[in-house]
Amino acid sequence: MGSVVIIGAGGVGQVVAHKCAQVPEVFEKITLASRTKAKCDAIAAGIDRKIDTAKIDADDVPALTEFLNKVKPDLVINVALPYQDLHIMDACLAAGVHYLDTANYEPLDEAKFCYKWQWEYQERFEKAGLTALLGSGFDPGVTNVFTAYAAKHFFDEINELEIIDVNGGDHGQPFATNFNPEINIREVTAPCKHWEVDKFVETEAMSVKKSFECPENVGTYNIYRMYHEEMESLVKHFPTIKKASFWMSFSDNYLKHLEVLGNVGMTRIDPVIYNGQPIVPLQFLKAVLPDPSSLGPLTKGRTCIGCVCTGIKDGKELKKYIYNICSHEEAYKEVKSQAISYTTGVPAMIGAMMMLSKKWLKPGVFNMEQFDPDPFMDALNKHGLPWKETTL
Ligand code: NDP
Repeated sequence: MGSVVIIGAGGVGQVVAHKCAQVPEVFEKITLASRTKAKCDAIAAGIDRKIDTAKIDADDVPALTEFLNKVKPDLVINVALPYQDLHIMDACLAAGVHYLDTANYEPLDEAKFCYKWQWEYQERFEKAGLTALLGSGFDPGVTNVFTAYAAKHFFDEINELEIIDVNGGDHGQPFATNFNPEINIREVTAPCKHWEVDKFVETEAMSVKKSFECPENVGTYNIYRMYHEEMESLVKHFPTIKKASFWMSFSDNYLKHLEVLGNVGMTRIDPVIYNGQPIVPLQFLKAVLPDPSSLGPLTKGRTCIGCVCTGIKDGKELKKYIYNICSHEEAYKEVKSQAISYTTGVPAMIGAMMMLSKKWLKPGVFNMEQFDPDPFMDALNKHGLPWKETTL
């Protein structure tokens, strides 16, 4: 059905490559390209299908455009870092290729992620007859599709949305992050924002917590309110939502380490001079922390991520919970990655499948909830992330 270039050979890139390779009728040709070619080759060697590999610096737009003109893919799956989003979108426009990513653009020198920069590409993608699908991971991604599915099938209107991301896994390390440490720490140390009536209200990071009991004996965890990008698009596309908040579980141990690292300045993103050289403390910290891809064989337990929607159906109040539970050990058995990379990489593959099969393909820049959720929800059940729904 088509040819894809996957950019980024980290934890998520590894899962996307494996999952695309499992569906040869859709992904006829796969090229994995990243800054370090050896990482692409190592991933390709673990897959029993031919995957082409290449070295590419995605921030070099002319070189990336030339590469895309040579490979001629139908679609680029961007699982490099959020800093590369705009450069990859520029190269896709220049080469006439569709685009998909899993995280919205963030400037390197400011921990501020929002859709403004990518939504500004709307007219250019529309004119070029190309699709850009934004945020096709789990959260953002599946959480947007869960909300769209609830709006389509369960509610006349959704009034409150709570997205709850619990990682009940344990990797046994004193301190490690489950995906890119720099991106992860920038995200969790940012001020919290949640939606109230018609605007985002800002509060101090990690200042509001509650306890949440996951279904199916995953356990009871402390979850903390924080800002997450999908709220921005969901309140725009579902204006009946008057309250939206995002919650994530953190262990006391993780938070204590983070507090100390913050107190001593190690989470700073501005350069400091060390021995005459400028270094960014957070980038240095990333270099000494465990590589998230090394956590695969160590992590035990399950994730539980989902949406609690409250709203009105036939004049009555209704509360629904849609969720997925994913086992770290099962994910590792299948694709040699822990569940955080797995729950991101599978939806990236499914988003790409929706585009290549033309179920989700129209000119412009779109968030996940702007397409029909049904074929995506069916594909989640078939490709490793089965979901359940319940009335609370
Ligand atoms: P990693 O750091 O493990 O991998 C990133 C990869 O991108 C690395 O292989 C890196 O190369 C490569 N890369 C970085 N810069 C460039 C560049 N300029 N040109 C080419 N390649 C580059 O990150 P993850 O795999 O954990 O995360 C990937 C993405 O997924 C991130 O954007 C993250 O925010 C997103 N994500 C989304 C989630 C969701 O649910 N929506 C959840 C988790 C992650 P090198 O190996 O040389 O460093």
